[in-house]
Amino acid sequence: MSEEKQRRPGLRWAALSVLSVVFSAALFGLVALWVLLRPDGPLPDHWNPTKRLTVAAPVTFVTRVQMMRALGDIAECRAVLDQAGVAFAPMSDLEVDENCGIAGRGQLSGLANSRLNRVETRCATALRLAMWEEHVVQPAAREVLGSEVAAITQIGSYNCRKMRTSRGSDGRWSSHAKANAIDITGVRLTDGRRLTLLEDWDSDGPEAAFLRRIWRGSCDWFRLVLGPDYNQLHADHFHLENTGWGFCR
Ligand SMILES: [Zn+2]
Repeated sequence: MSEEKQRRPGLRWAALSVLSVVFSAALFGLVALWVLLRPDGPLPDHWNPTKRLTVAAPVTFVTRVQMMRALGDIAECRAVLDQAGVAFAPMSDLEVDENCGIAGRGQLSGLANSRLNRVETRCATALRLAMWEEHVVQPAAREVLGSEVAAITQIGSYNCRKMRTSRGSDGRWSSHAKANAIDITGVRLTDGRRLTLLEDWDSDGPEAAFLRRIWRGSCDWFRLVLGPDYNQLHADHFHLENTGWGFCR
């Protein structure tokens, strides 16, 4: 018998062993996944990608999966806001034309822990704002200013208009034309202090540190953010946008 032929049974045995290990591992993985993801499984909701997003839950790598699902489904988005205690009264969609309108429209007048002067916007914009308020704005106020935010001030979300740039209108439609953005001008704290971007952004105190921190943190929850450092048009507000390519300035 040649050496070649003697080696073959050994090779076949090794291949079978590898196959059985891979198969067992896959089976074990599937069973583990099934146990973990069952509705009454031991995995906390904020670690379970099949569960609904909870605004106040700790942020994990699963949070983004849950949030993307809510952003893409208006009923799910409304349910998340409702559960969080966000004041978002559903309205029928605003249909204007292909450039303007509000899908998943609602009247937003409060986030989970603070008031907001009333604004009509789309659910997705309200949801991103709620996540920012919960996970960025309130923690920053507590840590930097030793207070809480009682109210956030906005100057508009829906506006059927073209984009404004420092060189004038450039012909493209603004994200405001579909309420995919909201403009925030400042906050009022529970201790009575009022902060505005116009007056406090360039100040020396903790107010500026707070505003810069919530600006930077907004980039984690919105897809495009423009603030006072971007250009003069944004000297008095953060433009927080639900669409875009991750630009943050
Ligand atoms: Zn804007």
